[in-house]
Amino acid sequence: MSNYVIAPHPQASVPVAGSGGQFPVRRIFCVGRNYGEHAKEMGFSEKEPPFFFTKPADAIAENGATIPYPPITNDLHHEIEMVIAIGKEGANIPAEQAMEHIWGAGVGIDFTRRDQQIAHREKGRPWCWGKAFDNSAPMTSLQPLSALPDSQKTLDNGQIWLRVNGEMRQQADLSDMIWNVRDIIAFCSQSVTLKAGDLIMTGTPAGVGAVTAGDVLEGGVENIGELKVTLS
Ligand code: MN
Repeated sequence: MSNYVIAPHPQASVPVAGSGGQFPVRRIFCVGRNYGEHAKEMGFSEKEPPFFFTKPADAIAENGATIPYPPITNDLHHEIEMVIAIGKEGANIPAEQAMEHIWGAGVGIDFTRRDQQIAHREKGRPWCWGKAFDNSAPMTSLQPLSALPDSQKTLDNGQIWLRVNGEMRQQADLSDMIWNVRDIIAFCSQSVTLKAGDLIMTGTPAGVGAVTAGDVLEGGVENIGELKVTLS
């Protein structure tokens, strides 16, 4: 028997590919502007140190979900991203040791209420209402690093794409990332102690755009996962 005065929230989790297992999710960190062409389309220069924002763990929606078009926006954008899952705690992790902290990888969409994000950004306010909302992080099951082909175990290459209603909107390669996963972990762990269960969404390539109720989004990363979401 617990002495919690209200029922505790169920543990957020993501399935593990090819097993009955679940990966328990602690926090979701997201990297901003990590592909040069996307930084440009958002009006920024190509190279700056990575910066982070967060989503709540229960923003996760399962692969195949039908998601209601969210409130307080008329400009919901898709951002397809590789997701990395932290399996081992660490602070001030050197980039050359970062792979030891990655348990696996998956694919997610960083849904963004772009009108809210930009309105708040222009006033110097936090991005939260643009980024951290219900169902704003649909994602695939996670692949353990051990299940990936040798050529991809460092998560440095592989096609990443997103189609809306069958039409290609985003198409790039993980090698286009400005900061690779080792640099991302090094930077992030300078600010917070990364814990097992944390997820990091690693940024989106160019081609972001608006979606609306009825749209079907299908995206993926080569050998890591394929995601399908329908907006209602
Ligand atoms: Mn993003």
